[in-house]
Amino acid sequence: MRDTLSLIPRGRFPSIRRRSVSTVQANLGYRCNQTCQHCHVNAGPHREEMMDRDTLNLLMRFVRASGARVLDLTGGAPELNPGFRELVAEARAAGLEVIDRCNLTVLEEPGQEDLAEFLAGHQVHVVASLPCYLEDNVDRQRGKGVFETSLRALARLNALGYGTTLTLDLVFNPQGPSLPPPQQALERDYRQMLGERYGIVFSRLLTLANMPIQRFGSMLASQGKFDDYMALLREAHRDENLDAVMCRDLVSVDWQGYLFDCDFNQMLGLPLRRAAQSRSHLREVVGQSFAELPIVVRDHCYGCTAGQGSSCGGALADGNESVAQGDQPTAEAVGV
Ligand code: SF4
Ligand code: SF4
Repeated sequence: MRDTLSLIPRGRFPSIRRRSVSTVQANLGYRCNQTCQHCHVNAGPHREEMMDRDTLNLLMRFVRASGARVLDLTGGAPELNPGFRELVAEARAAGLEVIDRCNLTVLEEPGQEDLAEFLAGHQVHVVASLPCYLEDNVDRQRGKGVFETSLRALARLNALGYGTTLTLDLVFNPQGPSLPPPQQALERDYRQMLGERYGIVFSRLLTLANMPIQRFGSMLASQGKFDDYMALLREAHRDENLDAVMCRDLVSVDWQGYLFDCDFNQMLGLPLRRAAQSRSHLREVVGQSFAELPIVVRDHCYGCTAGQGSSCGGALADGNESVAQGDQPTAEAVGV
């Protein structure tokens, strides 16, 4: 895989600063039961990096002292970390909202047969990847059979109240090097297609732009499309999205306990900068404020501010409007 950091220009993206932390996003490890084409983490079944018990304990101390209201768990498949359930139970008992970024197919992994019930029992907010409502598109991006397994998982979650009384958000990202279509219009299509064909309900659809890093960035580079995609992101930049980019209120923690401004910077090896510190570990920052610290930006950040904007919570702007001055791809154009 190509090193994408060396391909990303630095210096053009506007300077931005942190506010106080409302969300701690923790990467519990790179192991995943899938090997998706667009994975910005390069996760897979053979990755062994995993947050250990001591770091999980430190993470909870940090979260409690930070004043954050949300603990957002990601990976790999975060559920495959042996400490996942204990962490979730502790965070929920502390009154935090817990988000599980779930790939859905993990619900059918050996040892995870009761995972859906566990998540429902702890009222965990599930954010699940489903990059299309058509089988071929999902299987092409995420692996053969993933669509069918994902639908079974969604039906199980629905039966437990997800999509009605419990929060179940779905995540869309484009198949190729284009921006996502307007979020609200696509959400209507998803609701109709998944509801009519499969009886599936969900809370919201979140549209995310693909970041030009890791597997996706490397694939673009090998196809000679990297610079064109970067130009697309830069040209669709909207200043008004700068106020809502996730790094202003979120801190990202890697599996070893080091801090980053966001998950993308984590994958690029660009640590959060505190004064003269080149990188910071959880053990050094419990109870400290990050407000007003400058955020480490490079031109991949245009992936967050292009068009309607993109964050782990979906589009930043009203997804109903026509974005990017009318050159935004429609749902059909991106193959949904
Ligand atoms: S399910 Fe998510 S973490 Fe796993 S390989 Fe796919 S994109 Fe990466
Ligand atoms: S890539 Fe990360 S640092 Fe850059 S704007 Fe997006 S969230 Fe902020």
